[in-house]
Amino acid sequence: MMETTFSLPELIASTTATLENIASEFTPAVFASSLAAEDMVLTDLILRNKLSIGIFTLETGRLHAETLGMLDTIKTTYGYDVTPYRPQPEAIAQYVAQNGLNAFYDSVEMRKECCRIRKMEPLNRALAGNKAWVTGQRCAQSVTRAELHVQEQDEAHGMVKFNPLADWSEADVWEYIRSNNVPYNPLHDKGYPSIGCEPCTRAIQPGEDVRAGRWWWETPESKECGLHVVDGKLVRIKPVAQQNA
Ligand code: SF4
Repeated sequence: MMETTFSLPELIASTTATLENIASEFTPAVFASSLAAEDMVLTDLILRNKLSIGIFTLETGRLHAETLGMLDTIKTTYGYDVTPYRPQPEAIAQYVAQNGLNAFYDSVEMRKECCRIRKMEPLNRALAGNKAWVTGQRCAQSVTRAELHVQEQDEAHGMVKFNPLADWSEADVWEYIRSNNVPYNPLHDKGYPSIGCEPCTRAIQPGEDVRAGRWWWETPESKECGLHVVDGKLVRIKPVAQQNA
């Protein structure tokens, strides 16, 4: 695992400054939360500091009950309603009728089509009209995210994309969560460091890559859902400013 060279207080200060800059200079901006640990850190920083960044999640219709439960947990803890974006019912019905409910196991193409319907199309709707969006991605999460930057130009969506936790390690995330009593998805305590849709996520063994449980039947290089992909290729979006460099 990649180790950060920054202390946690430095990372918190830098990330808070990034979020404050987004809230003041990129209005309107939204945060795409997966409701997993990293995204709870950002949720806590945004809501604790009362920053003007909307929070939404992609409610794919295939999430774990524990993940859906985080919507109520956030409401109870922060008094905030995360906005769920759901897929178009007609598109789901057509995919299931033509291919079956779990056709994503059959091929990478079928998996990407399912992700396109359940994630990418709702994401495009959620991002429309915004100047910037925020994710909880970290460089150290997998081989597909090693070149992540805090600020990037997302040409596909025509806006700036921020990854304020790019330089955080997994240990930083958990130290922040524990020391600030941030609520988190109980699946993390059951061997799920990375959480996606229920049929496409499984628990991992100690020492495995943190994203090894996502689409475990595919090779590591293909493991992105399309949210950070353009024309079928993982995008190395051009860095605008490496704020934590
Ligand atoms: S993660 Fe699996 S179930 Fe969820 S949208 Fe992608 S292929 Fe479909």
